[in-house]
Order: sequence, then structure tokens, then C-alpha cells
Amino acid sequence: MQFRDLQRQYEVLRPQIDEAVSRVLSSAHFIGGAEVRELEERLAKWVGRKHCVACGNGTDALQLVLMAWGIRPGDAVFVPDFTFFSTGEVVSALGAVPVFYDVCADTFNADAESLEKAIQAVKREGKLRPAAIAGVDLFGLPIDADALEAVARRHGLPLLEDAAQGFGGEYKGRRCCSFGNTSITSFFPAKPLGCYGDGGAIFTDSDEEEALLRSLCVHGKGATKYDNDRIGMNSRLDTIQAAVLLVKMDALETYELRDVNAVASWYDEILRDTEVITPTVPREWFSSWAQYTVRLRDREQRDRVQAAMKERGIPTMVYYPKPMHSQKAFGPESHVVGCPVTEMLSAQVLSLPLHPYMDRETVETVTSALQECL
Ligand SMILES: *Cc1c(COP(=O)(O)O)cnc(C)c1O
Repeated sequence: MQFRDLQRQYEVLRPQIDEAVSRVLSSAHFIGGAEVRELEERLAKWVGRKHCVACGNGTDALQLVLMAWGIRPGDAVFVPDFTFFSTGEVVSALGAVPVFYDVCADTFNADAESLEKAIQAVKREGKLRPAAIAGVDLFGLPIDADALEAVARRHGLPLLEDAAQGFGGEYKGRRCCSFGNTSITSFFPAKPLGCYGDGGAIFTDSDEEEALLRSLCVHGKGATKYDNDRIGMNSRLDTIQAAVLLVKMDALETYELRDVNAVASWYDEILRDTEVITPTVPREWFSSWAQYTVRLRDREQRDRVQAAMKERGIPTMVYYPKPMHSQKAFGPESHVVGCPVTEMLSAQVLSLPLHPYMDRETVETVTSALQECL
């Protein structure tokens, strides 16, 4: 059994993907080919933003936004404690400090109250300048955009939506990648919209920010290729990946989002009366189900169940076993408020196999094994 069956997806999409890739090979426009622009225009329109700037991967996308915002040493950027390492890493990479705030136990997503407390604590201490907020659409579920946007407005801070896992999700009629000031996504193969290598994109409504991002992506270029106005990066989505993504976007729009939601609802239905806690999707939220993550009693039970599932040939993952605030890479200045929910979740969570090509029988194999292992 596959945790996320990318081979099956390729079998289904093979004729279109092979055709698209060979078209790029014949054109020899490997960088900046027409497919890149076509993808950017299509995705911007789909998520509801004015601009999309494709780049090398989701981590670069995060860093490029913070560079465009002028994040520098002495700045504090507020980051959820329960997320993938990148969201905090890019802050430290620019010499600023990621300050971690807690998440909600039911949605795994940013807790606006904890964020408020963290901002107040940093202001009270007076050592760092509050500079920006990051929210993360964890496991495919959109952030509570209204709540986070309200905190951002109250403090005059820009909000960055990390939708690396959220692409395809929806919140009160708005699509992921359209929340806050600027959003990013990742096209890493296992994400809801994945390519066949690394890739990422940034979404913004601001014309100036778009121009600045396009410069930062290509060595800070100015009016011509050999004018460099600022220090940037080399971060581009290559044409082959864009061609693959255009085919995969058709699949995502027409049936993958629907089908992955059906798989999640089978899990919900079968696991409803067991001792595991199933993920919550609040009313008016729509998840793209990057992961289906359940909660077990404690670390001991979780680790034991995971090992027993492995013996039965069923792959599971722990996203994430450690709160960001206890990663060695970050200093004590990152830890201004307690994050007890993240500590609890990192001991309890277990992500089950899930993808749009999974049938009900496979879901039943997973749930029966899970119940035996409990
Ligand atoms: C995957 C991921 C990233 C990084 O994306 P890459 O394309 O792998 O660099 C950033 N944030 C979150 C929440 C992610 O899941």
C-alpha cells in the first residue's frame, strides 16, 4: 500500500503528461517557456489573486516574500508552532526571529488568541520589532482567515499565508492562496498539487510586490538581464514542471478534490465510533486533504500503533513529532508564549494513507488494521 499513490495518478494521466513533457523537450524552452506563464495566469485566476509568480519551491517562495517585505535582523515574525520546518527556517535565514504561537486542537491550525498573546509579549519585552505574521493551512485545511486577518489589521502587520498544503482548500467562499496580503504554495510531489520535482509559487494582488518578486527570483535583476538592482536568488519553476502542473490542475479541478474528500468522509464514517479522534472541518471550510490526521491517546500509544501498522504493511506518518519551539535550530527568543496544544498534538498525531485514487476497500483495510492495533 502507498501512503500517497503518485504512480497510480501517473498511470491515469500518462498520455497527457507524456505529451506535455515531450512538447517541452522538443521546444527546448526549458526555462521560462510559455507553459510557465500559462500556469501562473491560470492559478492566479483560480485562487482569486491578481498575480502568481512561480519559483523554485515552497521554501524559496516563503523566503522571497519575506525578502520583498524587507524582513531583517531585529524583526519578529510570528509563526505557528505546529508546522513544517520551512515556515520558521526562512525567518532565521534572513537574520530575523521566528516567534512561535500555538494552534487549535480541533483544526491543528493557527490560534488567533495565542497569536495575540505572542505579539503583546514581544511588544512588552521591546527587544524585537513585530514585523509580520505567518499562518499555515495545515493538512489542507484553510486557516481561520477572518480571525488572523483581524489580528494582523489590529497590529498593522502583513499576513503571509503558507498554503504549501492548502492549495485547493476553501474558506467561506474564498480559495486558499488568497488570504492575507500574500500567499505561497509548494508543488513538491506529495502536496495537493504536485509536480515531478521541486516547484512553488507566490500569489499577490499588489502590482509593485509582483514586480519586486519577479526581480528577486532572478538575482535581483533590474531593467535588463545584466542590471542587478538588489540581492536576490535564483529561483524559477522550469517549463517541464509547469507543463506537468497544467495537466495535473485539470485533474485536481475536475475530480481529485472531490474524490479525496470522499476518501476522507469514508475514514470519518468508519472511525466515528472508535477511540481515535478524527480531524475537524468546520462549517463553511473545505479541505484539500493534504493529510488525514487522527489523534491517539498519547505518544506511547501512537508510537506502538504506528509500529504495529507498519508490521501489517500499512504506511503511516507522524506530521510533526516535535514542536517548532523545541527544534535545536531556533534560540530561546523564539519561545515567548507557551504552546501546550502543539506539545499535546505532536505526541498524539498519526497521518493515515490518503489520496484521490484510493478506493473504499483500501480505506477499510487501513481502518480494520488500526482498530486491531488499538
Ligand atoms: C512542504 C511545505 C513547505 C516547503 O515546501 P517545499 O516546496 O518543500 O520547499 C513549506 N511549508 C509547509 C507548511 C509545507 O508543508
